[in-house]
Amino acid sequence: MNRKITIAIDGYSSTGKSTIAKAIARRLRYIYVDTGAMYRAVTLFCIQNGLIDPSGQISDRLKSMLPAINIEFRRSNSTDTAETFLNSVNVEKEIRSMETSSHVSAVSAIPEVRKMLVGQQQLMGRHGGIVMDGRDIGTVVFPDAELKIFMTASPEIRALRRFTELQARNENVTLEEVRKNIEERDFSDTHRDTSPLKQAEDALVLDNSSMTPEEQLEWLYEKVMEICE
Ligand code: C5P
Repeated sequence: MNRKITIAIDGYSSTGKSTIAKAIARRLRYIYVDTGAMYRAVTLFCIQNGLIDPSGQISDRLKSMLPAINIEFRRSNSTDTAETFLNSVNVEKEIRSMETSSHVSAVSAIPEVRKMLVGQQQLMGRHGGIVMDGRDIGTVVFPDAELKIFMTASPEIRALRRFTELQARNENVTLEEVRKNIEERDFSDTHRDTSPLKQAEDALVLDNSSMTPEEQLEWLYEKVMEICE
């Protein structure tokens, strides 16, 4: 199997996109890019620089400050996963906090932010052999991707998964807060003007409400084999 394809994985918040994306990338020895982490890093930059007012409005000053934002993924030796760096500082933990989550959809709706990050994502994936997950990968970033997946799962299951993840990181949140955040992000992500979350016409739907990570990986691996063999 020499052919290296592009795999675009989109879908609602907390559907387990990154879990399956990481697993398939490892199995195929492809590069994995978590585009949500990039939007989260820009959001953290806004928080750190006082660019979000108490009502949640993002300051226009962000646009002129975008060139000062450098996002990189570096492999961690201890966890063997890529971690997110914002201007050379490891922000992997901060970008997953509820505070960042509560502002990320507003930041990601700003066209200038999307233009910058989409350009970087296209550059990272230009040689193929990549698995990228997000909201607009199959529709905007790589509309010609050989394999597009659209992930979904029931809202209750998604909230419980994210809640368990946050608890493991000692974040002090309730299940209700997590559920509300997921609902709000889904609404905002599907209703924004620039590249709203929607299923690409040629995407395969994966509803993983009652599937284990192993079952999902096998399902996806088969789809890749159908294209590459
Ligand atoms: O994937 P994750 O839940 O970490 O993404 C966080 C947020 O980043 C999403 O709710 C969405 O607002 C934004 N996002 C986006 N486009 C992407 C990836 C993420 O707008 N490609």
